[in-house]
Order: sequence, then structure tokens, then C-alpha cells
Amino acid sequence: MTELQPARGTHDLIGEDQRRHHHVAETARRIAASYGFDEWITPIFEDTRVFSRTLGETSDVVMKEMYTFEDRGGDSVTLRPEGTAGVCRALVTNGLTQSLPQKVFYAGPMFRYERPQKGRYRQFHQIGIELIGPSEPLADAEAIACGWDILKALGVADDTVLEINTLGDKESHAAYRDALIAYFAAHQDKLSKDSLTRLERNPMRILDSKDEGDRSIVAGAPTIEPYLTEAAATFYAQVQAYLTGFGVPFRKNPRIVRGLDYYGHTAFEFVTSKLGAQGTVMAGGRYDGLVAEMGGPRTPAVGWAAGIERLGMLMDAAPPPPAPVVVVPIGEAAEAAALGVLQALRAAGIRAEMAYRGNLRRRMERANKIGARATVILGDDDIAAGVAQVKDLRTGTQDAVAFAEIAARLA
Ligand code: ATP
Ligand code: MG
Repeated sequence: MTELQPARGTHDLIGEDQRRHHHVAETARRIAASYGFDEWITPIFEDTRVFSRTLGETSDVVMKEMYTFEDRGGDSVTLRPEGTAGVCRALVTNGLTQSLPQKVFYAGPMFRYERPQKGRYRQFHQIGIELIGPSEPLADAEAIACGWDILKALGVADDTVLEINTLGDKESHAAYRDALIAYFAAHQDKLSKDSLTRLERNPMRILDSKDEGDRSIVAGAPTIEPYLTEAAATFYAQVQAYLTGFGVPFRKNPRIVRGLDYYGHTAFEFVTSKLGAQGTVMAGGRYDGLVAEMGGPRTPAVGWAAGIERLGMLMDAAPPPPAPVVVVPIGEAAEAAALGVLQALRAAGIRAEMAYRGNLRRRMERANKIGARATVILGDDDIAAGVAQVKDLRTGTQDAVAFAEIAARLA
């Protein structure tokens, strides 16, 4: 049998990779909590319609990236490609549409059938927030400020730039759509096949095309600003004013549209030049129509998602695990006493391990090898006196400490 490998586009998280991953998720969880967001954990697979109805049939995700299959009962299910649709489904099925606002944080795996490359995987992980209920532009700015604070706490804010745009309201959208159709229809012969489909169904989607040929045509396409209604333009101006109020630097980029269909008004991305082609680390916007698509009442909402792997790659290094204390018993009687010492250390929140094997020298070598900060050596004479030798491996000092004092000494 050939050696088994992880499935294409998946990866194991071990050691430094796991620590980076954990640090990103924990930092985000902590900062989102400081903004009043609570974590929701929704299923990793959903009824396929949760995504196919809402993400838009012309989006890349629905057109070619979903892991969809029939389960043994004949139901079509899909491994979630993103988090927002599931959260909105959960809002409706848990009867929370009348208990607004809901401020949701999530973290977990997402699945997309993509061509794997650096920063692009088939199973990847996202953190995200959804601020459901408020229709005010202040909410858009606050959601973005929360994301900015997370990037700052991770030490990657200086490597990223916030780019914002507006997708307007329905009326602006319709006017802009006509302008885009006129423009792209004039360049039809040069558009990719996917974009020809988009031209019929959702021309704005072409602006997000990754196809090289499309990109050059997109570069000359009209921007939305001249088509904005007064209300949409005011909304956009207010978002910018609040961002300034929150102290979040930004740059306007009229080319930003979101990869998924359910957005209106604010769209934004935090981008970096440090990850090659996979330059977007955090992305989101306002999606006032999604909850209604899920069968709930029309409910305004704004949110974002960020790729944990991409953030982890931008980060300098993850904080290392705390150095342990190693308990070293010498002899059988000492081993029995060592168990009590070990558990007292752990109960005090100290990372403590026991060297199981070999003579004193081997056990001390083992303690050094795992980077211990101290050893607690228990010999028969010491036990009789009710003490252990506590050795600080950084200073080399050693002294006898009464059993009851050991945890406090090493805290
Ligand atoms: P891209 O333009 O890179 O394909 P997207 O628009 O499909 O991104 P979103 O759906 O907005 O991405 O997802 C939000 C974030 O999740 C992205 O900015 C990125 O950091 C991360 N992400 C998306 N797809 C992947 C993937 N296949 N592998 C790793 N991270 C991903
Ligand atoms: Mg994508």
C-alpha cells in the first residue's frame, strides 16, 4: 500500500503551526468579546440550500468550489464554505429574529474545492463576526474597528491596508448594473466563459473575476460612485466618518466587490502585499438581504471573516508554551511522593511533568531537553525530612523546600 497522505489541500496543525492557529483564534475571541460578541458554534455541514440559495449562483463558491454530496438518506448536504449563511440560518431556526441585536463570533473549519497553493487550501479555517440587527452605518464601522483591533493585537496591522467601497442600495445597484452590462457587452468577445454567464445573471460579479483576461477588461469598467443615490452616498460618507472616529485608517477602492452575492452598501477588505497572490486576509460587508433569503424577516446585518492560516503566516511567531517544571524522583518511595507534588503543581496552574525513566543524570538531561525552567528532585532522605530539592535551571541555584511550599515557590 502506498503511504497515506493528507487529502489534497488539507493540512495537519502541529507544533508551531498549531500555536499560530490557536493564538489567532484566541486573540480574535478575546477582542470580539470585548466588543460584546458571543460565540456561536454552528454545524460544519448544512442542507445544501443554505448555501446555494444565498451565496448566489454566479459566485465562484457556488459555481465550482462547494463540497456537496448526497448522504445515505438521499439528502443533499454541503460542507460549509463560509460561516455567514449558517449563522443566519441558525438565527432563523432558533427564533432569534425578534431578539436583536445579535452579536456573533465564530471560529472553525471551512471547505472549498480550490486549487491548493500558498494561503489557499481546501480545508481552511476562519474567524468571523456578524453584527445582526443594526442598520446604522455606525455598525459597519464598529465591525471593521473590531477587525482592525484583532489585526493590531496579532501584530500584523502594519502589514495590511483597509480598502473600502460601497455597493450602494437597490436603486444605485440597478443603475450601476445597467452601466456594467453596457460596458461588458461591448467587450463580450474577450470575456471568459464564466464571466459571460455572470454578464447575464450578475454583471457585478465580473469585477471579482480571477481570470487574467477578464482582469484587464475590468480595469476599464465604470465605478459605482456616479450611480449612487443620495441616501447610499450619505451612508458611505458616514461609514468613513465613523471609521475616522474609531481611529481606523482606510483607503477607498472602487474595485472591491465581495465574492458572494448577498452584500449591499459597505464592502471592505484588509489586504497585504506579503502573501503573494493570496493578499486578502479579512473581508466583509453589509448584507441586509440574507436573513430574508433564509426565510426570516428582512434583517440588516454586517460582518466579516478572516482566514486563520493567512493571519498565522503574517504573524511573527506564536507565543511559546510555558516552560515546564519537571519532577524527578529518585527511588520507589520518592516516586510515590512525587505524584503528590506533581498534582499540587498542576492544581496551582503550573505546567508540570515527571521524568519517568533512568538515573538522576538521565532524568536531568530529559528536563533540559524539554526546556524545563526548574526541577523538583525527590530523594529518600529528603522525603523523610518532608522537603524536596528545587533547582532553578536558569540560575542554577538549588535549595530544600518543604512539600507544602513547593507550588507557591514555583508559581
Ligand atoms: P479569495 O479572493 O482569496 O478567493 P474570497 O473572496 O473567496 O477570497 P472570502 O469568502 O471573503 O474569501 O473569505 C474570507 C477570508 O477567508 C479570505 O480573505 C481569506 O483570508 C480566507 N480564505 C478564503 N478562501 C480560502 C482558502 N481556500 N484557503 C485559505 N484561506 C481562505
Ligand atoms: Mg475565493
